[in-house]
Amino acid sequence: MAKRRVRWDRIALVAIPLFVIILLIATQCTGKSNQNQESSAELSVQSIADTAPTLNQGEFVVVIDAGHGGYDGGSTAQGVTRLEKDDNLRLALKMKEKLSTYQGVTILMTRETDEFIGLQERCDIANHAGADLFVSLHRNCADVGYGVEVWVDNAEDRIDNLLAEYILELLEDVGISRNRGKKYGFRGVSDGGADNHTDSYYVNANTDMPSCLVELGFLTAEQDNINFDTHLEEYAEALARAVIELGTDEGMYHPASLQ
Ligand SMILES: [Zn+2]
Repeated sequence: MAKRRVRWDRIALVAIPLFVIILLIATQCTGKSNQNQESSAELSVQSIADTAPTLNQGEFVVVIDAGHGGYDGGSTAQGVTRLEKDDNLRLALKMKEKLSTYQGVTILMTRETDEFIGLQERCDIANHAGADLFVSLHRNCADVGYGVEVWVDNAEDRIDNLLAEYILELLEDVGISRNRGKKYGFRGVSDGGADNHTDSYYVNANTDMPSCLVELGFLTAEQDNINFDTHLEEYAEALARAVIELGTDEGMYHPASLQ
């Protein structure tokens, strides 16, 4: 009996400090591991339910919109076999890749495959997520014309304008055939005339957050197509950087606070 009592004391002597140490280590780690468990559990529930992502507070949310898709090939012109929808998607996927290298950015894509997505649906994706910025990617078409232009809403929101300016500047740094500048409204209506603010591109007019529509060169201009193919990586990086720099300057993106 005495032997047994001594053994229990010895066990207690070892076990109690050990238990305290384990407890100390556990309290140091639980914060992080609980968070991880919760977020992974949340993610799996989300993917099963296929619901919209729950966004973290303070997360910088950027929507990349690859114009057209599916039966809507986009810009067309006689003799042009290259499809705008394909170029838009290539650029959008590259931009996603570049943007995903920045910490603390949630990227939402309106499409990642060759499928038709309605204009309102594109806006809904951004509006429901409460996105910070919306960038629509397109390519132009015309009998005559070359270069890059960025369209913003006629409402002339300050950040819309900045977004377009940052994008144009960084694309120009990569190299473009011509900077056609920032344009207001809708090509078919106001043709960018600042005094004729009658209409805007649908995605610019119907998204709740700052947005712009990039026309990255003309499918009808050979040099623009060469530029697009040779500088795809750099153009995508420029677009990602424009978004990051604007987000930082306007206080939407706080990478330091996420570490
Ligand atoms: Zn287009």
